[in-house]
Amino acid sequence: MFDKFKDECGVFAIYGHPEAANLTYLGLYALQHRGQESAGIATSNGRHVTCYKSMGHVADIFTPERIGALHGSAAIGHTRYSTSGDTVLLNAQPFSVACNKGEIAVAHNGNITNAAELRADLEAAGSIFQATSDTEVILHLIARSREKEMESALREALIQLEGAYSLVFVSQNKVIVARDPHGFRPLAMGTLEVNGGKVCTVFASETCAFDLIGATYIRDVEPGEMVIVDADGVTRRNFAPARNRSHCVFEHVYFARPDSLVYGRSVQLSREHMGRMLARQDRIQADLVVPVPDSGVAAALGYAEESKIPFRQALIRNHYVGRTFIEPSQAIRDFGVKLKLNPVKNLLEGKRVVLVDDSIVRGTTSRKIVRMVRQAGAREVHMRISCPPTVSPCFYGVDTPTKNELIAANSELEEIRRFVEADTLDYLALENLQTAVSDVSGEFCYACYTGNYPTDLVQIQQRLPLETASY
Ligand code: AMP
Repeated sequence: MFDKFKDECGVFAIYGHPEAANLTYLGLYALQHRGQESAGIATSNGRHVTCYKSMGHVADIFTPERIGALHGSAAIGHTRYSTSGDTVLLNAQPFSVACNKGEIAVAHNGNITNAAELRADLEAAGSIFQATSDTEVILHLIARSREKEMESALREALIQLEGAYSLVFVSQNKVIVARDPHGFRPLAMGTLEVNGGKVCTVFASETCAFDLIGATYIRDVEPGEMVIVDADGVTRRNFAPARNRSHCVFEHVYFARPDSLVYGRSVQLSREHMGRMLARQDRIQADLVVPVPDSGVAAALGYAEESKIPFRQALIRNHYVGRTFIEPSQAIRDFGVKLKLNPVKNLLEGKRVVLVDDSIVRGTTSRKIVRMVRQAGAREVHMRISCPPTVSPCFYGVDTPTKNELIAANSELEEIRRFVEADTLDYLALENLQTAVSDVSGEFCYACYTGNYPTDLVQIQQRLPLETASY
């Protein structure tokens, strides 16, 4: 059931700037790493909401003419990647509708885990859906609400949702954003100067989007909080009591850009700390610390600093190919490693190498990279992973394969080591990951490493035997 909806996404919103569409384009450009499959922008000029979305990368979709046709001083944007089978333009966001609450567009990062049940109820009551995405459910819930005001209708919709959502809405006369009560996915708030000393409000999945447009990070949207920006200014409301905070730790491990603040914390510093903690677990004798670029670079720097083993970029990445993980078929993914990475033989020949990457998912990429390093002349390859073994799928918006495909869900450390053909293999211990992200009060979600899901529905589904579970 949940498995169908595992979008990785980036969202952006702005209110009160004459160049809203242009700035949203730039914001999405900075968030491109969060989803490379489709992108869209919806703007409001006070009377109408206009939306343009298409498959592809932000810079290819938005020509000056297309941006020029998106009028108004309020806008939202979305960039999306989903798994194959679910990749139609119909599912691209923002979703835009005209309903009894006016014209609204929404963009969503996360995964609503009770979307299938809500959708079945709505369909039974006569709602007609255009797409298969969970986000459309929210619009139907808003439209069906008896509340007249948009904020109250939205609140009524949100309290019916379970799972992960960082949402941005634009209506004819306002921008509203909301974050689920657990705060699974990030959502930062900032301000940007408009001509004449006035400031406008901006929101983004990551602060790297603020940096590009010259905005200042103010704070995160709180779990369970809705922020409304309109002609009266900025208003905040708690639409639901915050639950135990469950910030996705994988944002810090892999997903976010290192130059971003996520949950108010530097991603680069987290990753370097992960590397230092990994080195503290180790007593390996080696000549070089080599990152798998780009995902392993920050952790490798931390590892090298702590271990005093020299850091060398002995794998060079071709930046003009997409992340190999995105390729749909196994055949292409295997080929993709060579397309993406090439070893520097002169650095590796005869050397004992500590190879650092952020994670092992299926293990196939890691095996190809270990082979590549060995074929380039490395004498020993010691693989180090800057997070614990990935043993459970994510149902809150990170694309992980099913449990069957997760190598660490089905194999012991020694078996994984043999599979990836490394001389030794070690993962960062869970408590060291917690230290690296300074999680002193248990505010992160580690479900992909523990199998303990912070929401009831997923937890119950996960306990069911496979044949009765509905995903
Ligand atoms: P593999 O173990 O062959 O499945 O692939 C591991 C590689 O995939 C690592 O280099 C990670 O950086 C990368 N990776 C892990 N999780 C994800 C994800 N959710 N999206 C994209 N790439 C990922």
